[in-house]
Amino acid sequence: MKSLYCSFFGHNYSVSKKITSHVKEYKCKHCDAQMTTNGKGGISPLTPTYKEINSVLERIHSRRSMRKQQSLAFNR
Ligand SMILES: [Zn+2]
Repeated sequence: MKSLYCSFFGHNYSVSKKITSHVKEYKCKHCDAQMTTNGKGGISPLTPTYKEINSVLERIHSRRSMRKQQSLAFNR
């Protein structure tokens, strides 16, 4: 749903979810419009497909950072 504010001034996106250091999800402060960083470094509407890609990315990313922490502990 697009609010009257958005149709006049455009959406006012803020980061709603940080997936990785490069990929973020955005949500408009005035309506429920959602966007995401796409693979090309641009911004795309957050479709169910992108949501799925992001959840996979998030899982890979959290697993990787966990492994990094483990190797740091091992090296100590
Ligand atoms: Zn909006």
